Amino acid sequence: MTRVFNFSPGPATLPEPVLRQAAAEMLDWHGTGMSVMEMSHRGKEFISIHAEAEADLRELMGIPANYKVLFMQGGAIGENAIVPMNLIGRGGKADYVVTGDWSKKSQKEAKTFGTVNVAASGEAGKFTSIPKQSEWKLDPEAAYVHICSNETIGGVQFHWTPETGNVPLVADMSSDILSRPIDVSKYGLIYAGAQKNMGPSGLTIVIVREDLMGHALPITPSAFNYQLQAENDSMFNTPPTYAIYIVGLVLKHFKAMGGMAAIEAHNKAKAKVLYDYLDASSFYKNPVNPADRSLMNVPFKLKDDALDEAFLKGAQAKGMIQLKGHRSVGGMRASIYNAMSIEGVQALVAYMKEFEAKNG
Ligand SMILES: *Cc1c(COP(=O)(O)O)cnc(C)c1O
Repeated sequence: MTRVFNFSPGPATLPEPVLRQAAAEMLDWHGTGMSVMEMSHRGKEFISIHAEAEADLRELMGIPANYKVLFMQGGAIGENAIVPMNLIGRGGKADYVVTGDWSKKSQKEAKTFGTVNVAASGEAGKFTSIPKQSEWKLDPEAAYVHICSNETIGGVQFHWTPETGNVPLVADMSSDILSRPIDVSKYGLIYAGAQKNMGPSGLTIVIVREDLMGHALPITPSAFNYQLQAENDSMFNTPPTYAIYIVGLVLKHFKAMGGMAAIEAHNKAKAKVLYDYLDASSFYKNPVNPADRSLMNVPFKLKDDALDEAFLKGAQAKGMIQLKGHRSVGGMRASIYNAMSIEGVQALVAYMKEFEAKNG
């Protein structure tokens, strides 16, 4: 068996020990004679898996007691509607900071549910930097301020936490959750699809401050009502049980890696290998303002885009896949989430050097 270095933006590479454990437990989980996939979500076996995943997430992220953790479905794109349905009722308006394709989409979807103010946008600069907070036009009466902490497509990431006073900060952390320590108490709500940095697709994690629940618009479907889900331990409807189990294994793996500070150090070291090379090269270019560069998704362009196809083909031949950039920006993108090893990034840089020497 040969595993590739998978640079996919998501669904993305997962820790190999987790996949091995899931394989070993596939037919018979802990002597129960059944797969996790076959268990009742209300049985004691699955309830223990669910509770342990939540406890490990709380421990790793330091989630305060006055926050609920919800395991939901619908993905981050679903949350683009579910967040305003649940939160915008407190006053009818919300602020959105637009830093790339994902937050632009969030902002667009929210307009269906209330008045949306674009407090700042990086679009004029082609989303290559995060607008400084001093330039934001925040509304002190907004129900919340929405940001995307890491723009998966453009490769810009917040390396600071916005100050929003009494207005709750809401963050789409789909592509950088669990990649570094954060202070959860600075946020009103955090949401993330699991398939970038935590597990398989189909599961959305929502971390919500308790006092923000209970204001859902009357049109909110019950399955997407945070308060109802919180009251039912995320079991108002059947949760994505197998995805929760895999996330649970990934969280144990992250704990064994040393927790958030150790993982951040690992991610910084990996990203440095790639950015240092990009900056030293005149053949490749990353367009993002250095202070706002993502540690998770690194877009880059070749000197001549006519070479793109040959680059991708050569990478594939060396077992490095999913390097093609998003169709909206072109070029390449290396996604280097927690589960990507430093060896994977070093192999990529070695290949890039070789390709540059041949074609530069
Ligand atoms: C991938 C991604 C999404 C979309 O997730 P879905 O699971 O397709 O809904 C939204 N936001 C960010 C930041 C993402 O990386």
